[in-house]
Amino acid sequence: MTFSTLSPQDIAQRYHQVLERLYRAARTAGRDPKEVRLLVVTKGQPLEKVQAVVKAGARDLGENYPEEALPKIQALARPEVRWHMIGHLQRRKASIVVRHFHMMHSVDRLKIARRLERLLVQEGRVLPVLLEFNVGGEESKHGWPAWDPALWPQWMDEIAEILEMPHLDVQGVMTIPPWNPNPEASRPYFRRLRKLRDWLARRFPQGRWHHLSMGMSHDFEVAVQEGATWVRIGTAILGPRPGTPSPTGG
Ligand SMILES: *Cc1c(COP(=O)(O)O)cnc(C)c1O
Repeated sequence: MTFSTLSPQDIAQRYHQVLERLYRAARTAGRDPKEVRLLVVTKGQPLEKVQAVVKAGARDLGENYPEEALPKIQALARPEVRWHMIGHLQRRKASIVVRHFHMMHSVDRLKIARRLERLLVQEGRVLPVLLEFNVGGEESKHGWPAWDPALWPQWMDEIAEILEMPHLDVQGVMTIPPWNPNPEASRPYFRRLRKLRDWLARRFPQGRWHHLSMGMSHDFEVAVQEGATWVRIGTAILGPRPGTPSPTGG
């Protein structure tokens, strides 16, 4: 069996295996498994696989590109399925998120927050969001620079402004650590994000800050040990993304 021929049964089995690993990691870390939510990342995957994982029980699905997500969102159109935006959002795609997504994990700059707020006013809805931080210092990563606490004061005013936006419901923080196949290599970055979150919660007690969105296919167990409340998992459930040679695939 190759990954490209994963049947709906294979996908259901992989989905349940990941859930089991997730619950075991939570219990081993002394956490309530209900505190950790699974986001199945469907970017780059065909509709049939998305349908299979929803049939298996997945309810929260993640996409990086709104225009790629839209046909899947429309084809699935089930009220119990929630779509999460997890990628860098271009300004001109923001209206798709406002209309079709349940939540956004990747608010990575003040300008996009302002844009979303304006569109949300028109749409008359509140969007749950997480703020994305760059805790690894890689130039290719988005989010506010946070690899060194000395940088934190730089963007304090921007975070304060976002917290004032009535249509953005800030619920926590998100990060993507530098890619490394060894899951232990992610641990310091997950810790850094949690410390940053704790600091934000003290500095801005008006916010809620309860969510930590961190951990992917190769390192989600470590993320759970470090406090993740959302893990974002693609390939471990759905197999490699067609036409994507790298394990992360952007
Ligand atoms: C692609 C992606 C994931 C999932 O990665 P896998 O290695 O397939 O689990 C998680 N988070 C973000 C932001 C992504 O872009």
